[in-house]
Amino acid sequence: MKVEFGLLDIEMKDYNNYNKPDLNSARKRLNKETATIYYESNPLYKDLGKGKTYHILTYGCQGNEADSEVMAGIFEELGYKYQENVEEADVVLLNTCAIRENAENRIWGVLGNLKAPKRMKKDMIIGICGCMPQEEKVVDTLLQKYREIDLVFGTHNIYKLPEFLHEIYKHHDRVVEVLSYEGSIIEALPKIRASKHKAWVNIMYGCDEFCTYCIVPYTRGKERSRNKDDIIAEVKCLVKEGYKEVTLLGQNVNAYGKDLEGDYTFGDLLYDLDKTGIQRIRYTTSHPRDLDMKTIYAMRDCKSVMPSLHLPVQSGDDVVLKRMNRKYTFDEYMAKIKALKENIPGISLTTDIIVAFPGETEEQFLNTLKLVQEVGYEGAFTFIYSPREGTPAAKYPNPMTEEEKHDRLNRLNVLINEGYKKGHDRFLGKEVLVLVDGYSKTNKELMTGYSEHNKVVNFIPKNAKIGDIVKVKITEAKTWFMNGEEVD
Ligand code: SAM
Ligand code: SF4
Repeated sequence: MKVEFGLLDIEMKDYNNYNKPDLNSARKRLNKETATIYYESNPLYKDLGKGKTYHILTYGCQGNEADSEVMAGIFEELGYKYQENVEEADVVLLNTCAIRENAENRIWGVLGNLKAPKRMKKDMIIGICGCMPQEEKVVDTLLQKYREIDLVFGTHNIYKLPEFLHEIYKHHDRVVEVLSYEGSIIEALPKIRASKHKAWVNIMYGCDEFCTYCIVPYTRGKERSRNKDDIIAEVKCLVKEGYKEVTLLGQNVNAYGKDLEGDYTFGDLLYDLDKTGIQRIRYTTSHPRDLDMKTIYAMRDCKSVMPSLHLPVQSGDDVVLKRMNRKYTFDEYMAKIKALKENIPGISLTTDIIVAFPGETEEQFLNTLKLVQEVGYEGAFTFIYSPREGTPAAKYPNPMTEEEKHDRLNRLNVLINEGYKKGHDRFLGKEVLVLVDGYSKTNKELMTGYSEHNKVVNFIPKNAKIGDIVKVKITEAKTWFMNGEEVD
């Protein structure tokens, strides 16, 4: 069946009259050119939300946070107002994460908690979107067990939110539309950014790496880069609006440009964005295989590119890395770390690590601990492997007990936490530049923000205002943050 899809025509599967996801279609890469669509608001939906309110609950990565900013922008364009109390909102959206089972369990819990407010407020609309609905089994459960859900959509059709809401109001029935295809790029979407001085900027969408444990290439479509001119224009606009920091987003930002014509790469983009006048540039996430010297040189040469890097390694063992389909070895990873340290002295390195990947032996796990020590990470997100249905690793035998898995995670975290502390100790007595986020939640006399090396700094302010970059002398180094006082 062919379904009209705004400016696009997409082959769809007719599945019980719902547009449901299909992991087999999501896996395909057809090498078709990516369509870029410029969003225009439809006058038909103007005032759809007049007198109504919305609340978005966001889970998962920065990509989801950026998507929620777009959804907030769409809601406000339709006339909806933000309602802080989720139970009182007329529309509640859950923007979900599917990366691990515990992330999903959390969402099921929240959905359960929303049943009571929905019973009290019959016309409340509850919607679920993001990565979870991209999985067939999730949509099946939602349709069978969660009658109170009115709206289900995925990661590819956020821009159709006005149409979905219009349909629900008109037909008083639920709307389910999840697309399993490679994806397109939608430009010029409205956005309500969560911060007035720090902004997420998507430079690409999707992922083509297909690490064997990971669901992302299925939930977010193929790797597709935004046009560089659109990215540069967005950052220039942010500079004009007074923004100080951008974080460039993508599942593998180092693959930027590979799908575009020409040989413009991520490193080129960093050099160009440095010229926009933005004071701080960060980026996430990097894939070690694709991190190239041009990017490292851009970090060295561009004052605005901050001296910290999140470089997920996942494992320190070559056999495990191969079975994860990571396409680099221990030595290749360490060679990149060496180049980073040589070119950006004092760089702060962080990572992601998965323990208890199916079949990981004690010896292989020890290789991960060895790598952690050799790199000297100053922080890490550490996870126990979680099987994701539809991914290759979910079929690998994994005889390890829960106790053994947790034991590995605990042993790893001891080392990682030492790294956090050492990463703070090295700034004791030194002055650092802090971009001020606001007042400390636990002590209203202190302000808080991030240093250039991406460390949390709480400090006694003198003249600092939110959004300023101020000099702070570090007086105390803790495991999770540093304390200090503003200096002139
Ligand atoms: N694209 C990034 C990368 O390549 O590292 C981030 C992907 S994911 C949003 C963030 C992290 O979740 C990954 O780096 C990985 O450590 C972890 N992760 C992904 N799938 C997982 C799984 N099935 N079980 C446990 N951790 C997982
Ligand atoms: Fe997942 Fe690997 Fe892609 Fe990261 S690079 S999103 S871990 S498949």
